[in-house]
Amino acid sequence: MNGIVYLVGAGPGAPDLLTLRAARLLERADIVFHDALVHAEIVALATRASKVAVGKRCGKHSTAQKFINKRLVDAAALHEVVVRLKGGDPMLFGRAQEEIAALEAAGIRYEVVPGVTAALAAAAQLGTSLTQRGSVRSVTFVTPRVGDGESTGTWAQSVAAADSGAIYMGAGQAEIISAILIAAGKPPSTPVAVVENASLPESRTIFSTLEALPQFAQQILNGPAVIFIGPQFRARARAAQREQERADASARSGR
Ligand code: SAH
Repeated sequence: MNGIVYLVGAGPGAPDLLTLRAARLLERADIVFHDALVHAEIVALATRASKVAVGKRCGKHSTAQKFINKRLVDAAALHEVVVRLKGGDPMLFGRAQEEIAALEAAGIRYEVVPGVTAALAAAAQLGTSLTQRGSVRSVTFVTPRVGDGESTGTWAQSVAAADSGAIYMGAGQAEIISAILIAAGKPPSTPVAVVENASLPESRTIFSTLEALPQFAQQILNGPAVIFIGPQFRARARAAQREQERADASARSGR
């Protein structure tokens, strides 16, 4: 068999944010290797396929990744249409390059199908553009997460140098993130918005500032979350506060 492997973005969570291309490939798939985070309704679109859950949440373990690479290569020898279904977009914090390298080394054809990445789903939900004409001209996508033996890199400097940032895989490290970004030169009053489970019904948002973020760290979070840093979140935070005050007032007056 001379199969083809599709690295497919499943989007941020909500099944109807899947692309049509992804849905059609799932219908044709013989075997699907999916991330743990992918919604069951999306996996269920692969009616003909055997379905294999791979990877931990934020699967960071390199042996596990090597095992996934090998399974993709092996599957292409047995099946015509192999789908590797990954949360969000495969090309952003998705370890797609390691899978591509393994497929190329084995001479296996592959194609990548983009998906809606978490930060863009979260921005949509907040109604806050990640860029703002004239004031927010850059947005940086970073993660503070480091694997075994990796150096910490320059993620904090790149957030400090950009007008705004989206931090992936950082929710468990709110305290450290706050300290490092302030040390890197971000003003302590910089607005922060943390969006958990973007696009899903159970989604929650916490508004804060860089200096106050550690206090909120406890409230965060069971699900995956994106941390936004940037001036454009100030107006959204005020609007949320006004909404909350109105809701409280109407609850008090018994309406
Ligand atoms: N390739 C994925 C990111 C994988 S890394 C993408 O493009 O979205 C996993 C991280 O993505 C999580 O730690 C979290 O920061 C973020 N994430 C994934 N799904 C999310 C969601 N529904 N809401 C908020 N953040 C999410």
